[in-house]
Amino acid sequence: RLLLIMGTSEVLLLLMAFILARTNMIPITRALKQQRRFVADAAHEFKTPMTVIQNKLETMLEHPNDSVMDQVENVANSLTEVRHLNKLTADMLKLAQADAEVTMFDFKPTDLVGIIKEVSEILEIQFKEKNQNLNFEIPEELIIDGDGQRLRQLILNLVDNAHKYTDENTTITIQLKKLRSTARIKIIDNGEGISAEDKKHLFDRFYRVDKSRSRASGGHGLGLSIVQWIVEGHGGKINVEDTIPHGTTFDIALPLRHKKQPDK
Ligand code: ADP
Repeated sequence: RLLLIMGTSEVLLLLMAFILARTNMIPITRALKQQRRFVADAAHEFKTPMTVIQNKLETMLEHPNDSVMDQVENVANSLTEVRHLNKLTADMLKLAQADAEVTMFDFKPTDLVGIIKEVSEILEIQFKEKNQNLNFEIPEELIIDGDGQRLRQLILNLVDNAHKYTDENTTITIQLKKLRSTARIKIIDNGEGISAEDKKHLFDRFYRVDKSRSRASGGHGLGLSIVQWIVEGHGGKINVEDTIPHGTTFDIALPLRHKKQPDK
């Protein structure tokens, strides 16, 4: 009866909505929208460093008689931007792999303690520069089924963020313990913290709470998207909480044993 009182166009719209829902095309349209947004955001991220490099090179061409010091400064600034572009490209490639949904993880027995120590060594100089201290609450060894390279990236991104978004003379704590069938990792800082509203978008691609601070420290808002992909690839979970009295705690639970995917 409803169809009888509806016009042809309404019936067609209803039919299309029905087909879209039945054929799962609604998630596809959402995915297309996200994809378009990703490309637009990426283009925006590329634009700033490229403009800086272009300006510096043009200055050098137009003023060949500038002092060597000035020339060196132009080259140094351009190099910083090239490094930034390199990291951006590498992170985008990682996320492209994530989107391709092919299993890129190489699961093997992996000691998380060894990974935490390696990451701390990589970041040692940066920590010293801000007179920050790394505090470890970790066991002798904790082995899980995991992809060592990805897990190193996961810990590196989180500890590097704790270092970047926390003031000088502070302590960042890395906790690791076995809890039932999971390894629990906590990265605890006493930095500025993250508001409830920002927490909702934190894992979105290119999302940054403070754009200028993030960019100044070489960030482009992809680090936590990569972290989330690695955690999920291991069948784990990640939560962001407030540190009391202030700061941020990233709490990760990774299964000790990896459930093998059934062959397709
Ligand atoms: P970025 O490359 O900008 O660091 P991330 O995806 O790693 O990108 O982080 C997204 C944003 O989340 C950062 O720009 C920063 O504003 C915020 N953030 C991440 N970690 C912390 C932290 N430990 N404390 C405060 N803010 C943080």
